[in-house]
Amino acid sequence: MTGNIFVISAPSGAGKSSLVKALCELDTKLKISISHTTRKIRAGEVDGIDYYFINKKNFEEMIFNNEFLEYAEVYGNYYGTNIDTINEFIDNGNDIILEIDWQGAQQVKILMPNVIMIFIKPPSLEELKNRLIRRNTDSSAVIEKRLASVKEDLSHAHKFDYVIVNDQFDNALQEIYAIVSEYRNS
Ligand code: 5GP
Repeated sequence: MTGNIFVISAPSGAGKSSLVKALCELDTKLKISISHTTRKIRAGEVDGIDYYFINKKNFEEMIFNNEFLEYAEVYGNYYGTNIDTINEFIDNGNDIILEIDWQGAQQVKILMPNVIMIFIKPPSLEELKNRLIRRNTDSSAVIEKRLASVKEDLSHAHKFDYVIVNDQFDNALQEIYAIVSEYRNS
């Protein structure tokens, strides 16, 4: 039996990574796909755990060799999901989470219509801005660029199967957990 693929997208700073991490602690059968990216590694990140950090030339070679299920340019960097990573997981019956942007989500939905698409919304743009500042991982120029993309990201939420508002972390976590459990049992 092949596993389910859950695609989870959100604007930057909506709390997606923390939610997904907590979800995987609740449900240890879920695995997170590790993407490739050309973005610079941030403090605290580990190559091969958070992402495979590669240069633009190598990424473009992987595109050329059709090694990505999907890829997109997000905030000026490439991000992509390697086909082999996904196949290896789901062929073994594992459920997998793709934490990818809305462009990648759309590409995956076309190729694999059975994927379950979840969009996480921040409670408000104001709160989102505060979270990005508190996260303290990006310069103010990068934060401004990201905020400018947020409205665009939010305009694609209606294309997803489920939209969750992350105003209360525990509530949002329970909502995602309920969705995952429903598909697990079906
Ligand atoms: P960050 O740089 O903050 O880790 O991620 C920036 C954005 O890139 C997030 O919206 C994240 O979901 C998205 N992203 C991460 N990996 C992938 C991927 O493999 N494909 C696509 N399309 N987007 C990704």
